[in-house]
Amino acid sequence: MSTTDSHACWRAVDYEKPVHSTPADARSSLQHAWAKVPEALTRQQKQQLSQKLVPLLRQQQAVLLAHYYVEPEIQDLALATGGMVGDSLEMARFGAQHAASTLLVAGVRFMGETAKILSPAKTILMPEQEANCSLDLGCPAEEFSAFCDQHPDRLVVVYANTSAAVKARADWVVTSSIALEIVAYLHSLGHKIIWGPDRHLGHYIQSHTGADMLLWQGACIVHHEFKGQELASMKLRYPQAKVLVHPESPDSVVAQADVVGSTSRLLQAVTEDHTDTFIVATDLGILHEMRKKAPQKTFLAAPTAGNGATCKSCAFCPWMAMNSLTACIEALTQPQQSITVSEHLQKAARQPIQRMLDFSTAWRTFKSQQPYSQSDLSKQMAQFTHWLGTHHAKGSFA
Ligand code: SF4
Repeated sequence: MSTTDSHACWRAVDYEKPVHSTPADARSSLQHAWAKVPEALTRQQKQQLSQKLVPLLRQQQAVLLAHYYVEPEIQDLALATGGMVGDSLEMARFGAQHAASTLLVAGVRFMGETAKILSPAKTILMPEQEANCSLDLGCPAEEFSAFCDQHPDRLVVVYANTSAAVKARADWVVTSSIALEIVAYLHSLGHKIIWGPDRHLGHYIQSHTGADMLLWQGACIVHHEFKGQELASMKLRYPQAKVLVHPESPDSVVAQADVVGSTSRLLQAVTEDHTDTFIVATDLGILHEMRKKAPQKTFLAAPTAGNGATCKSCAFCPWMAMNSLTACIEALTQPQQSITVSEHLQKAARQPIQRMLDFSTAWRTFKSQQPYSQSDLSKQMAQFTHWLGTHHAKGSFA
């Protein structure tokens, strides 16, 4: 479905909005949001736009932060101009530490907000402020907050793919690269948890930690589409291939994975594993970085077609696709479009993000000092808690 206005073509994107919030009473209503379909450009046009962007970034004292899922030319430009390509947390961290006064965030809305929360004094620009995320859309702050209020005995842990207002309601914010460890840590301390918004990631964490978790029933329109039965057939056709899966995917897909993890973990697997063929179940924007890391290897897209297929995304996030080079130029030449988050929300949301950052630093230090530590997560957490006590390393998450 699409429509046009004088400037652009728009596509309606269906997503699930939970009506009832727990697995026991899970129901969703189908809603739709809009995504702008960027103009198709030739390679030469893209080169010209990239060349135009280089001096614009310099003039605006801006640095470009690109998510792994945005178009390859934006990723390449970010690296060529001293910016970076990464996941949402890496982008926000890099931006906070960079000397630039302006951050151009090529990703989706919550990433711009997170950058503002961690860099309040900087100007945050985005190529498309209307680039959204089904997880963010499916977890409105007021409804989520009311859900949390019904369970005051639980800690609230939310995924980074949420609005500033939902983060502000949380005790912890996590990304997929550290979610398992943080929930295992909280579980080891005896906490019960409310998790939002992605139900598949929540279930994956629950099954690996044994934590008592109430799951908000949101889903990512990209990862939710991967099909277990069709993946099993594909594996028969490529018996040597290793399967790389992001844990926002359904259980039936995760169960067949050789590696389950964040985008950073899947990229690491591509270089560490000696296999020469991989089946990849995440947004296909990641293939650009995978091919750069291992140009001699073959990457196959995990199936989204088959029984019950809707192809809402066909493994490409429609909102990430809104980040065109043209939109980058517009953002730098119309700087009034900066991202704003109220000071009250910034302050409230920074605390749970800071807890994650401090935990992540402590955990990485601990792991680097424990090369032979237990593979069992609960035993690792017992060691980690003891290590924290002896190293006074808790920071803001005490
Ligand atoms: S890929 Fe999924 S989680 Fe990421 S921005 Fe798109 S809808 Fe959100």
